[in-house]
This record gives sequence, C-alpha cells and structure tokens, in this order.
Amino acid sequence: MKIINILNSAKFSLSFEVFPPKKETSYESVKNATEAIAELSPSFMSVTYGAGGGVSQYTLQIAKNLKEKFNIPMLAHLTCVSSSRETVKARIEEMKAAGIQNVMALRGDLTPELMASNREHWDYRHAVESVRELKAGDGDFCIGAACYPEVHPESSTQREDIQFLKEKVDAGVDFLTTQMVFFFFLFFNFLYKLREAGVLCPVIPGIMPITNANQVERAIKLSGSFMPQRFKSLVDKFGSDAEAMKQAGIIYASDQIIDLYANGIKNIHVYSMNKPDVAEGIFRNVSAMLGKVF
Ligand code: FAD
Repeated sequence: MKIINILNSAKFSLSFEVFPPKKETSYESVKNATEAIAELSPSFMSVTYGAGGGVSQYTLQIAKNLKEKFNIPMLAHLTCVSSSRETVKARIEEMKAAGIQNVMALRGDLTPELMASNREHWDYRHAVESVRELKAGDGDFCIGAACYPEVHPESSTQREDIQFLKEKVDAGVDFLTTQMVFFFFLFFNFLYKLREAGVLCPVIPGIMPITNANQVERAIKLSGSFMPQRFKSLVDKFGSDAEAMKQAGIIYASDQIIDLYANGIKNIHVYSMNKPDVAEGIFRNVSAMLGKVF
C-alpha cells in the first residue's frame, strides 16, 4: 500500500522507524527486534539506509521481510550522497522487484570522511536529484523526504531551507517527515511557514523517545533539536535509573503524541530505534485511539 493513502485517510496513524544491521553477525538480532515491533501492527514502518552505502543491502532485506511476513506497508530509505548513479538505479530496481512501493529519498549526512573526500565527481549533491530520478523512472513510487523544523544545519536561513524544500516537494515528493522534535510548538511554527510557502503535502512529525540518559547528548548533537527543560528535569531526576528513565521517556513521547493529536495532527512517526519494548510502551498508551476516525 502507498503511504500517502494512509496519511490522507481520516484515521489516526502511528508509524515506527527501525535501522538495518551494521554487520552480518547482528542481522538475526535486528531481524527479531524489527519483527517484534511489526507485531504491534503499526500503520507503516520505515527502514533507514546507511550514508555511503555501507549497510545498504540490509535496508531492503529488512523491509522485504517485514512486508512479506506481516503485510505492513514499508518505507525503504535511500540516500544518494557519494553513491554513483548506477548504484542508486540498481537499488531502485531492487525495491521495485521486492514490491516496495514507498521510498524515502534522502541525501545522507556529509560525514567528516565524506567532507574530506574528493567531491568533484559525485553524481548527486542533494536529495532533490534522486526525487527527480525516482519520478522519471517507471517505478510508480510514493516518495517521502526529510524536513527540519529547526532548520537544516547547512542552511544559513530558514527561508532558504524552506525554498529548497519546496523545490524538493515540487519535484515529486508526496509527504515529508520531520527531524526529531521535542516541543510541539516548534512543529506548528514550521508547519505554518511551510503552508505559507506553498508546501501543501502531509508533514509527519518525528518523535524520538529518549529512554536513557546517554541518548540525550547524542540526540541533541545529531539533530540540533531543542530539548525542553521539562524533559531535561526528568533526565536529571531519573537518568541514573534505567527502568525509571525508560518509563519517563515512553510517557514523554506518548504525551507529545497526545499534544499533536489534540491539536489536529493525525499522522505521527516514532523513531523507535529497534527497541520493541519502547515501541510497545508507546503503542499501548495510544492504541485505543489508533485507527479512529479523526
Ligand atoms: P537535502 O534535501 O539535500 O538538504 C540538505 C541541505 O541542502 C539543506 O540545508 C537544504 O536546504 C540544502 N539544499 C537542498 N537542495 C539544495 C539545492 N538544490 N541547492 C543548494 N542547497 C540545497 N540519513 C541517512 O544516512 N540515512 C537515513 O536513512 C536517514 N533518514 C532520515 C530520515 C529523516 C526523517 C530525516 C529528517 C533525516 C534522515 N537522515 C538519514 C539524515 C539526512 O540524510 C541528513 O539530515 C542530511 O544532512 C540531509 O538530508 P536531506 O535529504 O534532507 O538533504
């Protein structure tokens, strides 16, 4: 099923993101974790893709397994930075052959190694180029793309970031998913600016449950996202107690979902990070609301 049909339906949707194994020896444990999340029957699931292609073959393997075993609509991520046109085209053909109908078209992060490499001959510089390629092919994919309520770190202004985002959407993106956001006011502020700029497709807020203290610093560093004092206080209080912190993180994420639902947002994506217990905790907190007509 195409994800855009889920997003445009009248019902609440909750989706979960997982990531592929980094090496063959962890394939089985990742497969088991992703299957445990799929057993919850989320509205759809997404599988991330390694920038530079390092673990890319497992993205499709995990997505195909979940689709075939649980009949869950799957969104396979695809990054293009530093990949050759042939590689990207081959991945698209593999997705088609595997019956994957939804692709998240991303550039990928410019890691320090990539920044230091010779970039002159790269086939792709921005995600919009892979969106155009997906649209030009015969794949008939539903295409998702990334967006940044707190501005992408490479953009000098939000106006510029939104202009490039509009170009990406106009090239054929069906929906957007945001970088993790911990404070729903920031999401709404961004949404108003998108609508004003003529970006009218569905925008799904991305919720990252923070369930251990070590995650806090990493999440802020990676995303640059604002972390409200309310959440920082929970980490101060419970950060050294694993069970208490997990519970606080699940409740905080569920609370964010409730805030968003209450304010008119019916599609929400959770960065569940291969943690079935966390996904299940959040799912159970909102399960009676899921599938209800909005
Ligand atoms: P782009 O859309 O190319 O934007 C990157 C920057 O370039 C922005 O500042 C933008 O304003 C600017 N820009 C865009 N187009 C142009 C243009 N034509 N000319 C000049 N500047 C332009 N990374 C992974 O490696 N694997 C994943 O699976 C993955 N999944 C993600 C999922 C989500 C929901 C999000 C939010 C991010 C994800 N990322 C993933 C991280 C993402 O790859 C990085 O944030 C990356 O730095 C930007 O990717 P993008 O697709 O947004 O790039």
